[in-house]
Amino acid sequence: MTGPIQPGASLGVLGGGQLGRMFAIAARRLGYRVHVLCPHDDTPAGQVADVEINAPYDDVDALKKFASCVDVVTFEFENVPAIAAETVAQHAPVRPSGSVLYTVQNRLREKEFLVRTGIPCAPFAPVRSLNELDAAITALGTPAVLKTAAWGYDGKGQTLIQREDEGRTAWSLLGAEECVLEAFVDFDHELSVIVARGLDGQMAYYGPIENDHSQHILDVSVYPSNRLQSVADEAREMAAAIVTGLDAVGVICIEFFRARDGRLLVNEIAPRPHNSGHLTVDSCITCQFEQQVRAICGLPLGDTGILRPAAMANLLGDLWEPTTPRWHRALALPNVKLHLYGKHDARPGRKMGHLTALADQPAEARQAAVAARQMLVG
Ligand code: AMP
Repeated sequence: MTGPIQPGASLGVLGGGQLGRMFAIAARRLGYRVHVLCPHDDTPAGQVADVEINAPYDDVDALKKFASCVDVVTFEFENVPAIAAETVAQHAPVRPSGSVLYTVQNRLREKEFLVRTGIPCAPFAPVRSLNELDAAITALGTPAVLKTAAWGYDGKGQTLIQREDEGRTAWSLLGAEECVLEAFVDFDHELSVIVARGLDGQMAYYGPIENDHSQHILDVSVYPSNRLQSVADEAREMAAAIVTGLDAVGVICIEFFRARDGRLLVNEIAPRPHNSGHLTVDSCITCQFEQQVRAICGLPLGDTGILRPAAMANLLGDLWEPTTPRWHRALALPNVKLHLYGKHDARPGRKMGHLTALADQPAEARQAAVAARQMLVG
């Protein structure tokens, strides 16, 4: 094995969103150069990168040019076509690898991997036709959630089936494409564990982080979580088994449900830093983005220790209605940090930024983050 990729080298990122932006900020702080490839210009990541190449993810010539200028490639957006990872892999190492991407970018393959690895998830069935959907509804019962196998995130590409006769409507709503039907999980909490795994298999953990969703989109995260202490070891063990089973190098987020009967079930695997880990930027010795840099460069992983309890509140485009949020109000608070992603168009449901509040206790941090967000409007 060759040595680590040292500061001063160039790191490539596929994707131009906020995860790439925060990765680029962490990488540049460490003295790396950052090249981003994404279809649009002036993106959140491109704004802070050294180089932004604008090309579709299936533009083989652009991918080759991009990859031949960097020492390693990672991604901040997993829904890139297989050709993108395959092409760049001919010129630079891709971490996590294209095979990790292949497994987790399709919900069916992801769940089949979980089953093979002995990790519990909600009962599910593949659905490729209306007949299969009817059979799946009979087998799993209702309520159940129908999700497209590919291209789903933040609740997009999924619909709740409350009654047996709703199958046809749900099937056409999702475009009659390959889906997975999942039993509805009656959970008391959603949580995530973020794991960094180095080239040598070393692992470092954040979490469990307690997550509240609203309209299927992450709303508030809190870390550490007192009420999830009892499942912390179990959640981390499952996360470790998953990243080891995938042989992933990089930062991987595992999202879980804690069912009301106490069982932990894996909902999703994200092969990159995660929205629930944004609070690590202000609250941990090493944040998830610096950890991604370290992991993909073959460097020692950083200490994930918590400096202070924290809570993160997402800022969606809805807050811009009817007018720009009153930033000065949140910025006047000594324990609140504002992060904006440089997006120009504030659409409802679009992640525009987040606030992180720090406090002596996690519950206080949660209250402070939510109150600070409330102060931005009205
Ligand atoms: P996903 O895009 O699969 O992460 O789903 C987004 C959100 O929808 C989750 O964080 C949950 O709040 C909810 N959800 C998804 N699948 C289920 C399920 N099987 N049972 C209950 N809630 C779900």
